[in-house]
Amino acid sequence: MKILVVNAGSSSLKYQLLDMENDKLLAKGNCEKIGLADPIISYKHDGKEEIFEGAKNHEEAIKKVLDVLVDKKNGVIKSFDEIGAIGHRVVMGGWIFKESTLIDDKVIEQIDRLSEMAPLHNPAHVLCMRACKKVMPNIPQVAVFDTSFHSSMPEKAYMYAIKYEDYEKFHVRRYGAHGTSHRFVTQELAKVLGKDVSEVNAITCHLGNGSSITAIKNGKSVDTSMGLTPLQGVVMGTRSGDIDPTVVQFLCSHKNQSVDQVLNYLNKECGLLGISGISSDHREVSQSAKKSNKRAQLALDLLAYSVKKYIGMYMAVLNGAEAIVFTGGIGENSYEAREQILQDLEYLGIVLDKDKNKNFKRGQIELISSPKSKVKVYVIPTNEELMMAKDTLEIVKNLKNSK
Ligand code: AMP
Repeated sequence: MKILVVNAGSSSLKYQLLDMENDKLLAKGNCEKIGLADPIISYKHDGKEEIFEGAKNHEEAIKKVLDVLVDKKNGVIKSFDEIGAIGHRVVMGGWIFKESTLIDDKVIEQIDRLSEMAPLHNPAHVLCMRACKKVMPNIPQVAVFDTSFHSSMPEKAYMYAIKYEDYEKFHVRRYGAHGTSHRFVTQELAKVLGKDVSEVNAITCHLGNGSSITAIKNGKSVDTSMGLTPLQGVVMGTRSGDIDPTVVQFLCSHKNQSVDQVLNYLNKECGLLGISGISSDHREVSQSAKKSNKRAQLALDLLAYSVKKYIGMYMAVLNGAEAIVFTGGIGENSYEAREQILQDLEYLGIVLDKDKNKNFKRGQIELISSPKSKVKVYVIPTNEELMMAKDTLEIVKNLKNSK
């Protein structure tokens, strides 16, 4: 079966078409600047990339994606009928969705209702789901939630110590994110350890523009660094991560700004960007640090220190972990970040093989800890789209079997 995986944002729609018989990526691309000036759609297939005029809205974006996929000259499929199902990434499943779910009108409504907790994402997902339904009414759609992997967290991990009645009324709690990535690398880790996933106890570090750390016990998430929203946790590209809430009130009064403005600032202007004053991009900040830029070095130090603290915390939560996994753009690619995060952790049984950490072929699973290390350290490339496609396939297969 061929599965179309989509990841819709407010002005973008990333897509991949996967052939699930052999886990093969047939084509991928991005509709960028939807509804803005000069929108484009990129289309990568068979080692080539083409760029076409983009779309005015999400419905048109889906139509354009289908057009490029079935194009007579460069299409990778002959007709839409070859697409067996569509899998949608959904950022916020809240307390409602504990697993990937077949989409119907009620599910779309529920995802829409959760928009308050992900105002930049859930409305775009809903637009995209409705657009797909209109353009391809007979193709089943599945929602894969970033939060659902973390629904196994115990109360003591997901609760904030606020008034219980407010938690009950408003569902204010930790939901986490990047669940699809943490779940994917946990499954990959189980394979390399030769274990069933239910036997995996590990700490997974998804480090990219957005970053989160998860404690995995018996293959399940038992704690994670992101909170009600992705603002909580480690230092990120543009997000501050953990902060005393009083800082918000302090900045509001000193900068004469509203709470919304300050939250926007903490989400978009802080982290690596805010400290370095150079960029949110880890590579660029690293390059400046190498040229002795002190603020760039400080930004890297803050990021590494915050990740290290979460590793220490989750070692305590898990009473020791068998493995630590690095994934995401920074986790997979920056040997310097991994080295800095893991330095001086011998007490916890974590010893990096610096040479291996630096010199291995990118894009594959690699063991980078020393044989002396009690805890194995792996780099595992994430593949959220494949995970989403697998979930979608599973649900659609069950649907067919039950007919
Ligand atoms: P992601 O959000 O997972 O795409 O990750 C984006 C982050 O990964 C950015 O901060 C990039 O600078 C960083 N990144 C990607 N490639 C490299 C690399 N080769 N070395 C260091 N950082 C990288």
